[in-house]
Amino acid sequence: MSKKFLCMDVGGTNTRVGIVNDEFTVLGSAIEPTKQLAAKGIGIGFADLVLKWAALAEAEGDELSRVVIGVPATVDAARRRVLQAPNVEGLSGLALADQVEEMTGIPTTVEKDVNLLILSDIHSLGIDPASSVTGVYFGTGIGNALYLGGQVWHGAHGSAGELGHVPMLGRTETCGCGNPGCLECFGGGHHLASVCTEYFPEVPIGEAFVRLSNEPQVIEVLEAMAIAVAAEANILDPDEVIIGGGLPLMKGFDRDAFAERVRTHLRKPFPAETLTLRYSQQGQLSGLVGGAICATM
Ligand SMILES: [Zn+2]
Repeated sequence: MSKKFLCMDVGGTNTRVGIVNDEFTVLGSAIEPTKQLAAKGIGIGFADLVLKWAALAEAEGDELSRVVIGVPATVDAARRRVLQAPNVEGLSGLALADQVEEMTGIPTTVEKDVNLLILSDIHSLGIDPASSVTGVYFGTGIGNALYLGGQVWHGAHGSAGELGHVPMLGRTETCGCGNPGCLECFGGGHHLASVCTEYFPEVPIGEAFVRLSNEPQVIEVLEAMAIAVAAEANILDPDEVIIGGGLPLMKGFDRDAFAERVRTHLRKPFPAETLTLRYSQQGQLSGLVGGAICATM
């Protein structure tokens, strides 16, 4: 009989939850407002949700063999405790896996959301699972996942892949993390939105790449994004680079021009000669699919 996993994709506003089998097919899913789950304490809310879905599975004669919770946060190397979650109240410092396991009796893993996203992307893009892949996801900030030699690289403390917090020479703007001059202060959606508000109030952010791509402030955003991708590729020389997140999906984002911009900063001859940028096929259920892949690793 195939194994079934309960996967959760936690966001600041909504949490997606669903049962996924070991062929990575989502068998059923739902959306719950995260704030509502956190009403009695977020760990208790998640555990109650697991118990509810476990009962549904049991009614169908199924058993959940693992729970995987993807969080927009840094997670410790053992993937049990959330380290810092800027967008979800009550999650920072929580021993989430222990709490859910104790209350449900089901083995539980907590993982950084982009680490689940890269697993889903490697699967859906048909990339060899034994290869080395970097994922750079441009949303509000810069999400980053490292998949090296067939596994997600977490670092000594779980803090690997914080590409958005690489410091930029000579810049002093304070990042959301508290440090001065981080890359994501310039290469993320939050900054692009500020550029539109400050310099081009008549242009909605969704039109920025269509109407403003020759403006120096927007060129700087694209350049910071390209530097992020190129810097990591120069360090790791990966087989594949996956680009994702909301920014590259915006109207007017020129993939060829972006590839050229990245190539300018790549070391020659390698990785410059062989590196192609792949684009994430992310969808609403990618986090859940990635959760199931994580559960089988
Ligand atoms: Zn930072």
